[in-house]
Amino acid sequence: MKPLIHAAVSLTLGGILWFSTRSFYAGLLCFASGIFIDLDHVIEFMIHHDWRNFTIKNMFTACEHTEKQKGYLKFDRVYLVFHSAELLFLLWIFAIVTKNIYLMAIAIGCSAHLIMDYMSNASHFYSYFLTGRIIKKFSTEKLFKKY
Ligand SMILES: [Zn+2]
Repeated sequence: MKPLIHAAVSLTLGGILWFSTRSFYAGLLCFASGIFIDLDHVIEFMIHHDWRNFTIKNMFTACEHTEKQKGYLKFDRVYLVFHSAELLFLLWIFAIVTKNIYLMAIAIGCSAHLIMDYMSNASHFYSYFLTGRIIKKFSTEKLFKKY
């Protein structure tokens, strides 16, 4: 998914949350979590390429088309530790049990992000589960349909 679309959706959700809860920080956390979950693409890039070829354009391309990287940008393995449905599930449980509005805001932002990634990337159901990626040995070829 394009980072700018994530930013637009997260901004909208953050605004709605701010308006509905009257909590600026809840809105801000929703917005930030919907965007910064993609920071694991930076980690991924560093694992595979160090600082070589690190440009904003290459990072945007890596976020946008994880499964379609070609040439020197191609990843044989995909870790994406923050893109984890299990961690999100635990966050939701923790947010509901504690009734903490800030955890709820983070959970909403991350949920919207993962849903958009599911919809836009050629992934399988298990691709955004950390255990699914472990079982598939983080193989990009096995985790994405059009690799
Ligand atoms: Zn993402």
